[in-house]
Amino acid sequence: MIAPLTEPIRSCAPKNLDEIMDYLNLPVSLKNYTSILDSAGKENLSHKEFLVRLLSLESCAKFERQIQSRIIHAKFPQIKTLDTFDFNFPTSIPKQKILSSLELSFIDNAEGIVFFGPCGCGKTHLANAIGYKAASAGIKTLYTRAVDMINHLIASQADHSLHRAMKFYSSPRLLVIDEVGYLPFDKQGSDHFFNVISSRYEKGSVILTTNRAFKDWGKIFHDNTVASAIIDRLVHHSEVIKIEGPSYRVKDRKK
Ligand code: ADP
Ligand code: MG
Repeated sequence: MIAPLTEPIRSCAPKNLDEIMDYLNLPVSLKNYTSILDSAGKENLSHKEFLVRLLSLESCAKFERQIQSRIIHAKFPQIKTLDTFDFNFPTSIPKQKILSSLELSFIDNAEGIVFFGPCGCGKTHLANAIGYKAASAGIKTLYTRAVDMINHLIASQADHSLHRAMKFYSSPRLLVIDEVGYLPFDKQGSDHFFNVISSRYEKGSVILTTNRAFKDWGKIFHDNTVASAIIDRLVHHSEVIKIEGPSYRVKDRKK
């Protein structure tokens, strides 16, 4: 048990209102309390109404800071939204499925989404747009390219920080793993990939993008056994969204 503080120590605590607000880290209240006091007087607000007005300003500002921090920590390569996505460009795309995924209920159920389609069809754009929506709703989200995640895990194994690195990928409620399939992984990389997917299974959501059909995943992940184990966990509670059509990059180049 800690002994109660003596009076001389207590007397050093901040006393005037500005100091107290500063000490309690209430910057918005500190900046606005005089004008809110003023309007409270004019509008004849009760004490409680005054407090609500003051503290709701502070809590809105805190919420905004938290959302900004969620977005920064998600490490999106670019901010993309569905507003800039032309659903008429792909030759085939399940628009309704994508729109309903923006409601984010799949995250509450720890379900996932796999975007499958050829290069340039908008997989990264859509994965980021959903990720951005989640982070903006205060959901802890992380974006990574598959190759970066695997390189990080391999390096962390070498310097004995694998446990921390695994936590980095297993703890966000939504993990966006982009570009699965462009580069194959060796046994060690495949095992790390499996461990990430397995650690998140039925606990956290994964949005994954790939240009390769599941039947070819044995060529990405060292052997068919580990590929099947990954696919099995991944698709059990995931929506597979297949997109078909030409590359949007080529369209941009032609323009
Ligand atoms: P993928 O990941 O499938 O290779 P991207 O999502 O990286 O493709 O798309 C390539 C570029 O084209 C990005 O700048 C993306 O914003 C844009 N893009 C792709 N499809 C569309 C679309 N249907 N409408 C608007 N922009 C698109
Ligand atoms: Mg991509």
